[in-house]
Amino acid sequence: MIFPEVPTFSSFAEEREYRKKHLVAAVRAFAQQGFDYGFAGHLTVRDPEHKDLYWTNPMCVHFSQVKLSNLILADHDGNVVEGKYAVNRAGFVLHSSIHAANPEIVAMCHAHTTYGTAWCTTGRPLDMISQDAACFYENHVVIGASAGAVAVEKQSGKSVAEMFGNNRAALHQNHGLLTASHHSIDDAAFWFIALERCCQVQLLVEASGVKPKTVSEKSARYSREHVGNDFIGWLHFQTIYNHLAATQPDMFD
Ligand SMILES: [Zn+2]
Repeated sequence: MIFPEVPTFSSFAEEREYRKKHLVAAVRAFAQQGFDYGFAGHLTVRDPEHKDLYWTNPMCVHFSQVKLSNLILADHDGNVVEGKYAVNRAGFVLHSSIHAANPEIVAMCHAHTTYGTAWCTTGRPLDMISQDAACFYENHVVIGASAGAVAVEKQSGKSVAEMFGNNRAALHQNHGLLTASHHSIDDAAFWFIALERCCQVQLLVEASGVKPKTVSEKSARYSREHVGNDFIGWLHFQTIYNHLAATQPDMFD
């Protein structure tokens, strides 16, 4: 039966190519979702060989125009090691701090999205009001540090990194959403899309005035473990990847 399988690699070069292609697809998926906001927003994936370097989207290039040949490789100090474009300084501080503090994090996503930003004004974690929200049960955190301030200072990046810990996602108060994955950029990108949707759904429910029923702790934990794990995030993203690869072949230029 045809079913996607997580690939294995015989060399760093092969794995690097895979990670870069999937990073480009994740950025294009963000464009499709309308997650662009000027030059804000950044997605990162760690290099498989040089683990203190990560691939990211170039600053001031629209998400829809990101491709293999304009990705940049940056180090933890914000130096561009490979590529012609600049790195987003604010993005660098947040991402590099979280990557540095949590070496097992492979990939991260951040963007200024409408519903995520709206929900992040509340300073509250998501309520477990759907199976989709349950995928974030005890796996996301509200970060109030540096709330609403552009995170260009190293210290603010550090405090955010400490609070992020091992969670899948953070709701950065007065700022927006962050997701991270120990598995792949595919996983981080899918759960970012899912988290934005969860914020939208909870805002809709609250605006309706209807008191929602909540998922029990046991069911929420079950959902997170069975339909909310890393592999499922990766698997969800393969539908998006295959669609983009077929319809936007220029992303591999
Ligand atoms: Zn931001």
